[in-house]
Amino acid sequence: AGPKKADKKGGANYNIGLSNTDNGVVTRFPPEPSGFLHIGHAKAALLNDYFAKQAPDGKLLVRFDDTNPTKEKQEFEDAILHDLELMDIKYVSVSHTSDYFQELYDTCEKMILDGGAYADDTNPEIQKDDRKNRLPSKCRDRPAEESLAMFREMKAGTDLGRTHCIRARIAYNSSNGSMRDPVIYRFPNFKDKEPAPHHRTGWTWNIYPTYDFACPVVDSLEGVTHALRTTEYADRNEQYHWFLENLKLRKVNLWEFARINFIRTFLSKRKLTKVVDTGRVTGWDDPRLPTVRGILRRGLTVAALREFMLKQGPSRNIVTMDWTTIWAINKRMLDPVVPRFIAVEKKDAVAVTLIGGPEPSYKEDRPKHAKNPDVGTKKVTFGSKLIIDQADAASFAADEEITLMSWGNAIVRGLDKSASPIKDLQLELHLAGDFKTTDKKITWLSSDEGNLVEAELWDFGYLITKDTLEKDDELDDYLTPVTATMTEALVDANIAELKEGEFLQLERKGYFRVDKALGKGPEGRAVLFKVPTGGKS
Ligand code: ATP
Ligand code: MG
Ligand code: MG
Repeated sequence: AGPKKADKKGGANYNIGLSNTDNGVVTRFPPEPSGFLHIGHAKAALLNDYFAKQAPDGKLLVRFDDTNPTKEKQEFEDAILHDLELMDIKYVSVSHTSDYFQELYDTCEKMILDGGAYADDTNPEIQKDDRKNRLPSKCRDRPAEESLAMFREMKAGTDLGRTHCIRARIAYNSSNGSMRDPVIYRFPNFKDKEPAPHHRTGWTWNIYPTYDFACPVVDSLEGVTHALRTTEYADRNEQYHWFLENLKLRKVNLWEFARINFIRTFLSKRKLTKVVDTGRVTGWDDPRLPTVRGILRRGLTVAALREFMLKQGPSRNIVTMDWTTIWAINKRMLDPVVPRFIAVEKKDAVAVTLIGGPEPSYKEDRPKHAKNPDVGTKKVTFGSKLIIDQADAASFAADEEITLMSWGNAIVRGLDKSASPIKDLQLELHLAGDFKTTDKKITWLSSDEGNLVEAELWDFGYLITKDTLEKDDELDDYLTPVTATMTEALVDANIAELKEGEFLQLERKGYFRVDKALGKGPEGRAVLFKVPTGGKS
């Protein structure tokens, strides 16, 4: 089996260039349980999912990379698995790096005995300088028994042990910095915080393996065939392979992909946590956040997210994407299938008396989507009392002929242009008129009893005012003051059929996602979130 076929769900169609797939493909998504997943993690998860599907019996593993008890929590694990489910990502198992702590410890002891690692108490600053200057540590030639005794002191958490770390004896003078005797075991750095137990292993371990050490070992033990990493790790590939070779472990193929960023968007866990904790946003699922929950709630479909990320797949350039591309893909998917309804802004809605309109009113079945009969039909009320948007009424000239969409032409009568806002006007139905001759095709709703329901239309903006936050930029200096606006609307009562999470188009107003179905929002209103379209919608 080799790489082939495009994603079944449609979308990317490129050769991903996997090598050595003869023994099947096993990939892994290795999140650290220290936050919710964001759109960057979504790329990693979706690519791993996609790669796993390249071979007939391909498998995706989820492994929580939990080697840092200072930040990790069970609640984040639960959240991450939920996020994966939201993205329709199917994995065969969930494991933890901590499941292998004993094996990793034993492996490290063996390495020390074989001369492949040593205990070092060089102070971290000097260690850093030595590494930079390609100098050996003063501890490098320590006898194995002495290093082993020290590793046991570390394990016991003694004061003497605490001054040490364990380093692999690879090559202090290598041209590749990652090969200069990397640290493989260490004490967690709680900084000013109270030491906390590991969320799974409690106080069992005082010391933890580093990512550099644990990752290749556990990848190999778990049967991973293709490990995907972001390009910043490319320099560490040599080191990764060194561990496997030296420990006589099964080989793993490495494949790099580019980290992704978006303009006016921050992905740092620290900053995301800050806006959540300070109430700038309503929670981790706030539609303004780049979290998986946030973007889906904003109205991105999983299909569009997947297609977008797979298109990025093979590129190794770290890019800051504009949001327009992903929203344009989303719109292309929504447009042919979402039902269309009418809404009129509640504020200053204009009451229209339709001269020659039907008395009494009647209802007629009309398609919910003009070009796609599969979307079904809705009941439209035709009557002589209508409402229209203030902006439309204000644009009319006396005696102008306009078109009432899905009905016919009408001529503006009794318009008091001096009134601001305009409260009411008359339209004289002129069904013989040709809609091709009018400039204005307007939306309207019958104001008959029971025909109108209320909705909140929400629109959101970027949380920050700067395209790219630099490392030293203070988040507080770039927060946009107002990032959510709400418009009250009177909407076609047909929207009562829509459930939370469904989509609709409000004609001439845009695409929306139902955040709260009718009856579930404040005062029984529906709550609708505007879906960006990547252009002027
Ligand atoms: P990293 O460890 O790479 O700094 P992280 O600490 O933010 O990322 P992890 O939970 O460790 O998050 O990452 C899980 C996976 O998601 C890793 O494969 C990681 O490289 C990848 N990832 C994280 N951020 C991005 C991003 N912006 N674009 C693409 N992949 C990302
Ligand atoms: Mg990480
Ligand atoms: Mg990180």
